[in-house]
Amino acid sequence: MINNLKFLVCPVCKFELRNTTSKELKCLKCNNKYEIKNEIPILLPPNLEQFKILEAQYHDHEAHHYGEINMINSYYVTFYHQKYLNIINSLNEKSVVLEVGSGDGNDANHITNSELTVIQSDISFQMVRLAKKNKKANSKIIYVVSDAETIPCQDNSIDAIMIVGALHHLPSPINFFKEARRALSPGGLLIIGFEPNSWPYFVFYPFIRFVKKIIRLDRYIKSIHSGVSIGDSETEGFSYSDFKLLLNESNLKLVKIQRIWFLFGFIHTILSIINSKLPSDKKIKIPTFLQKIIIYIDELILSIPIIKNFCWHWTLVAKKNN
Ligand SMILES: [Zn+2]
Repeated sequence: MINNLKFLVCPVCKFELRNTTSKELKCLKCNNKYEIKNEIPILLPPNLEQFKILEAQYHDHEAHHYGEINMINSYYVTFYHQKYLNIINSLNEKSVVLEVGSGDGNDANHITNSELTVIQSDISFQMVRLAKKNKKANSKIIYVVSDAETIPCQDNSIDAIMIVGALHHLPSPINFFKEARRALSPGGLLIIGFEPNSWPYFVFYPFIRFVKKIIRLDRYIKSIHSGVSIGDSETEGFSYSDFKLLLNESNLKLVKIQRIWFLFGFIHTILSIINSKLPSDKKIKIPTFLQKIIIYIDELILSIPIIKNFCWHWTLVAKKNN
C-alpha cells in the first residue's frame, strides 16, 4: 500500500489514484492501472517513447556502480552541489520538493531540512530502488518511478523542482520545462543543476574521440561502462541562449545562474576516462587542497566576460511568477 498518495496523481490525467491491491494503483478518472513494485509506484504513462525506454534500461543496468563512475563524491563536484542544496535546505518547512531524475539519491541524501517532503523520481526503477536503499536523510521521502515530461503531481502543488545532470537525458527538454511550470506552485523554484554546456560537444569531445581512436585505448583495457546512454550520446549540451529560450517558452523567470568548472572540465573528462579503466581501489583521486586551489582559479577565470560562457556546466535557478 502507498500511504503518501496525496502527493501523487495519475501522470496522464492528473487525477487521484487509489490502491486497488497492495501491488496496484488505479486512476479514478481514466482507469489507467499502475504497478507497485517494492512499495514504489510505477507512474509511467502507457506507450512510453522508445528513447525513454532505452534511458530507463541503461540506468537500470548501470545503477549498481553509478556513483563510482561519475565521481559524484569528489570535492570539486560536491562543492557545486552544495550551492543549490543550500537553497533547498532553506525552503520553508512544509515545502514539497520534487527531484526529477534523482538517480541513486545522492542529492536527496544531502537535504538536511527534515521538515520538507521530498519526492524522488526517476524513470529507472533500479535507480529509485537504489535511492530507497541508500536513504540517509531524515526528510520525508516519497519514491516514485515517473517520466520527467509527465510529472505525476497536481498543478501548483510543488514548491521546488530540482533536476540535476538529467535534463540532457530528456528527448524534449521544453516539455519538461512546461510540465515543471504546471506542477510548481506560484513563486515556486525550478533548479537545474549541473547541466553540460554545449561547446565541449563541438570542440573537446570530438578531439577526445579522435585521440581514443588513434591510440585504440579500448583494445587494450576493457571499460566497466556498458557504453553510454542514448541521452548522453545524443545530447549537445545547452548554451546560455538555449536556456534563455527554454525559460522564455515556459514562462519561467531566471533568478540565478552559476557557471561551473573551467580547468576542472578538462581534468574531470580525462580523469573519468582513466578511472573508468581502473579497478575501484586503484582509481586516481586529486587531494582536496589541490581541488580547492583549482576551483579558486576556475572561479577567477569564470568571472571574465565572454570567457565565462566557456564554463563546462551550468546551474540555474528559475522561478514561476505569481
Ligand atoms: Zn488518469
